[in-house]
Amino acid sequence: MSFELTILGSSSALPTSKRFPTAHLLKVDERFFLIDCGEGTQMQMRRFGYNPARIHHVFISHLHGDHVFGLFGLLSSMGMMGRTVPVNLYGPKQLQAMMEEHLAYFGPLAFPLHFHAPDPSGEVLIYQDEKITVEPIPLKHRTQTFGYLFREKRRALNLRKERLGELKLGIADMVRIKQGEDHVTPDGLVLPNRELTWPPYRQRSYAYISDTVYDPGLADRVRGVDLLFHEATFAKKDQKLARATLHSTSTQAATIAKRAGAGRLLIGHFSSRYKDHGFLADEAMEIFKPVDGVNDGDCFSVPLERETSE
Ligand SMILES: [Zn+2]
Ligand SMILES: [Zn+2]
Repeated sequence: MSFELTILGSSSALPTSKRFPTAHLLKVDERFFLIDCGEGTQMQMRRFGYNPARIHHVFISHLHGDHVFGLFGLLSSMGMMGRTVPVNLYGPKQLQAMMEEHLAYFGPLAFPLHFHAPDPSGEVLIYQDEKITVEPIPLKHRTQTFGYLFREKRRALNLRKERLGELKLGIADMVRIKQGEDHVTPDGLVLPNRELTWPPYRQRSYAYISDTVYDPGLADRVRGVDLLFHEATFAKKDQKLARATLHSTSTQAATIAKRAGAGRLLIGHFSSRYKDHGFLADEAMEIFKPVDGVNDGDCFSVPLERETSE
């Protein structure tokens, strides 16, 4: 029942001795989702104890090197480790052409690659299984770019076992109650659903927004998200530079988090021009709390909680 994000790389274009380029790993129960794959991602996975064989889905935001250079090495290593099961790659449609060109030179992989390009409208889910959905979020950057919103599906309600015996419910009744319906007894008494079930679990969520110019409309797309990662390449004083390069500042990231009512803001993708990044989180905290300026190896988990009825 885990919902845990690990930061594998937190730098922007230039890696530093302490920061690898961007890559995030989201673990939902036993599923791993890799989000962006900057240079050295496979080394970071080994360093932090994650097995590349467990990755089946890789989401790429855009085709700038700091988000994608690690893909070639990671896929090659997966092949050398004897992988035969497919890897699903999600990202702008040019991703397929780029990978095919690369593989035409270096030789085919021993396992299939399946490509999935987001619908440019961002209105169509790009992935779902029985537990989670992933929505692409179109971003404004120098090349076609998508953020991704991971959200748990609503779980079926849990029945209050002690009531079931009293009421002598049949299977069909239990299915209806698990779906949220009230129950009507044979003598016409209506029992509200909340008296028969435990409150549902909250649907946990994580949004990945990188890279993008400040776009106030993003707040609607990530409303109420538990963990919001928003790039903060630049400091407040470098807002003009952010605008010119289609990136965001610490305070712009915090403004999106505040408008969205996010649970927690994570900022990263820091420019290597700043020696110490601590002040970027301080700037963000003037507008929104809590904020973490992320470091390679940081983990953030969202606990499993039941909804409160009030
Ligand atoms: Zn970048
Ligand atoms: Zn970029």
